[in-house]
Amino acid sequence: AVTESGVVDAVTKELFIGGKWTPATSGATFPVHDPATGAVLCEVADASASDGMAALDAAVSAQAEWAAHPPRERGEILRRAYDALLARQEELALLMTLEMGKPLAESRGEVAYAAEFFRWFAEEAVRIDGGYAVAPNGSGRFLVTKQPVGPSLLITPWNFPMAMGTRKIGPAVAAGCTMVVKPAEQTPLSMLALARILADAGLPDGVLNVVTTSDAGGVMEPLIRDGRARKLSFTGSTAVGRLLLEQCADKVLRTSMELGGNAPFLVFDDADLDAAVEGAMQAKMRNIGEACTAANRFYVQRGVADEFARRLTERMSALPIGRGTEEGVVVGPLIDHDAVTKVGELVEDAARRGAEVLTGGATVDGPGNFYQPTVLTRVPADARMSREEIFGPVAPISVFDTEEEALAAANDTEYGLVGYVYTNDVKRALRVSERLETGMVGLNQGIVSNPAAPFGGVKQSGLGREGGTVGIDEFLETKYVAVSL
Ligand code: ADP
Repeated sequence: AVTESGVVDAVTKELFIGGKWTPATSGATFPVHDPATGAVLCEVADASASDGMAALDAAVSAQAEWAAHPPRERGEILRRAYDALLARQEELALLMTLEMGKPLAESRGEVAYAAEFFRWFAEEAVRIDGGYAVAPNGSGRFLVTKQPVGPSLLITPWNFPMAMGTRKIGPAVAAGCTMVVKPAEQTPLSMLALARILADAGLPDGVLNVVTTSDAGGVMEPLIRDGRARKLSFTGSTAVGRLLLEQCADKVLRTSMELGGNAPFLVFDDADLDAAVEGAMQAKMRNIGEACTAANRFYVQRGVADEFARRLTERMSALPIGRGTEEGVVVGPLIDHDAVTKVGELVEDAARRGAEVLTGGATVDGPGNFYQPTVLTRVPADARMSREEIFGPVAPISVFDTEEEALAAANDTEYGLVGYVYTNDVKRALRVSERLETGMVGLNQGIVSNPAAPFGGVKQSGLGREGGTVGIDEFLETKYVAVSL
């Protein structure tokens, strides 16, 4: 039977280096908490900089042989890991809910989503293409081939503890890169379980190395500056992404950056309002609002604004709140106490500047990091939540009159990950989709994430794309051979 203590006990809470499980050299550990109760779930190995360097050494040693490994076999390892993830969906979902807090149904969804990246990249491993061309002068020939970029550093966040891992590990494995992965300190268990599954699926020793640490900067900066790793793929905040880009500049590492978002959600008078409310619930409440794709600002055209706000408020105030392991819960805890404090401050700031709280607007009494699903209206452009990522269950609504005004407001941000548009006018739909300064648009759709599609942002939301047919390119270099005949 799948029990809470059973799934936690089953994880090896050590570093995974060169195919071996090992404690931190110092013997240090750090605690992992259940955000719904504050209780300590377990302790995991706390790597130091020298442990991190051992992981990089292992990745570097394994690189040449791994690059020469047949692509078909690389794909088959991913395919076996895909099967294993689905076979163990229930226990992995429980593990994820325990360390991250999201409701079990969403954790099951994430395990399936995470697995899909492995299936997708299993299929892509054998489709790495090249070229042969006649040079313009007619006498030379161009050969073009793709090679793995080399040992890669992968840093993942806590909000999707498994899928943000497989989205990077999948293409790295398919491309023939070795890796050092550092999961977020709040949620190391999902990644440790994933490492075990990949090893069991036949991934050779040293290809995937996992270091858990409470000192992310102290462990990762030396690895970035070392120069042997050729790539950094990061998902996390824009602030940390900026810092890492600076560190990568030194040795000119390739980078993929999935950073913060501030997604606008536009509802026009001509939209299907039922669909818009449904999409709003998904875009806002998936993952308790703790997603970089979360709708952060709702702009609703005047003709439907009151009705939209009324319906959204009705839906939000009816959501069951509780520990993610409880049946029927939709709103789990936020990741930690600081997150609750920040969400509370953003709501108070907006209220002070004239916003009206239609529902919620407070924390939940008792243990755990809970905040009530909240809807605000008349949120002014200078409110902090109009500029900053909320990362919680709070929906701020503002009213607009013209399309021009809506676009100006939507684009008035340094972020550019995703925008949502609800309209039944096909010309407006395309016009607005083109003019939104984002890497992705949800057109009459509240969820855009799909392993088969290119995920990523523009402006300060990031660099590069994950998933889709371009996802593997992030881990490949193009080599051109000039041939004389
Ligand atoms: P959040 O605010 O959502 O926790 P972060 O950007 O702080 O987002 O964290 C995302 C990932 O980046 C986590 O794995 C975290 O440990 C890691 N991280 C945070 N600071 C640094 C740093 N200075 N160097 C390398 N990794 C870092």
